[in-house]
Amino acid sequence: MFITINLKNLFVPAVLIIVVIAIILLISSGPASETMLGASGNAESCSSVLIIDAGHGGEDGGAQSKSGLLESSVNLDIALRLEALAGLMGVDTIMTRTSEEIDYPESANTTHARKTYDQNRRLELINSTPNAVLISIHQNKFPNPIPRGSQVMYAKTEGSKELGELAHANLIAALYPENRRVAIPVYDSIFLFNNINCTGILVECGFLSNPVEAELLATDEYRIKLASVLLCSYLQYMEEAS
Ligand SMILES: [Zn+2]
Repeated sequence: MFITINLKNLFVPAVLIIVVIAIILLISSGPASETMLGASGNAESCSSVLIIDAGHGGEDGGAQSKSGLLESSVNLDIALRLEALAGLMGVDTIMTRTSEEIDYPESANTTHARKTYDQNRRLELINSTPNAVLISIHQNKFPNPIPRGSQVMYAKTEGSKELGELAHANLIAALYPENRRVAIPVYDSIFLFNNINCTGILVECGFLSNPVEAELLATDEYRIKLASVLLCSYLQYMEEAS
């Protein structure tokens, strides 16, 4: 195993803060361009592959804040930062998308057909990757502007509940301790997560409908924190599973 430190110790809050600050200082100018696209990392250093799924994209922008912040672009930015951080730690990654554009086939000539194509494309990529662990990044929205904080959902597959509960607890501790939610099984209506064959979690990072959280989600610092916590959770899960 390439990790030489005891990752359980990373989640002593003070240590986590130091890790986050170090990472912010390290990549304050944003993710390195050479690690932004495609797979990265050292295949020999870790047997598992972290698949990073930036939710929505293409014709599907997802949720939107009142100020116009679009979920698909927030998801993508956090996903790219997570990929860059993972590369620094020698973790193999695969992105399900690396831009806001999605190449749809000509045969997909309705919005529904294009969304279906995109979901099937992602599912095929995930299910054809051996030893994959999926982290799908989303933002939440609710008619009432009060709810805020992260919400993690986990697939029915082996290890998903453990990773989901770990990530959820870490997000609460690092970002919004007042959050009283718990990690929950993914809804039956979410096609991708009910058809994956690997460990997988869906992370609703925050509420675009909450003005305070939407403002935070627009900042580099908060996105780096989110990406850092997700990477630490993945590493902690891998360490505990090994
Ligand atoms: Zn979403």
